[in-house]
Amino acid sequence: MEHTASEDITWEPAPAQHFTGEVWFGALSRVPEPGLNALGVHFAPGARTDWHSHPDGQVLYIAAGAGKVQNRDGETVAVSAGDVVYSPAGEVHWHGSTTHTHMMHLSLTTGGATEWLAEKVTDDDYAR
Ligand code: MN
Repeated sequence: MEHTASEDITWEPAPAQHFTGEVWFGALSRVPEPGLNALGVHFAPGARTDWHSHPDGQVLYIAAGAGKVQNRDGETVAVSAGDVVYSPAGEVHWHGSTTHTHMMHLSLTTGGATEWLAEKVTDDDYAR
């Protein structure tokens, strides 16, 4: 058993080229690739990912705050603490906070790195 106290989890700024606004990553997994990647992600109000997909899909568990998740078909779900969203393998989508609240979610993925589209989420997409 390995216990990591919260103060020993390192939070780092998310890579700016794939995000809009202020986003932080907290690495939670201790499992080497290609195992489970458990990542805490904190979004300041108005922050969001770029459009992307995950090779084996993604489970999002909303741990705090509120936000939204949208796919390429324009389907948008409002999420808040305690909600779970599953994006199937290869589904292009984005996730982020609302304009007026923070959001922290846990991201659970296997199968390797996020596949980023070279495409920001526009203010029009975000407002939908
Ligand atoms: Mn995702």
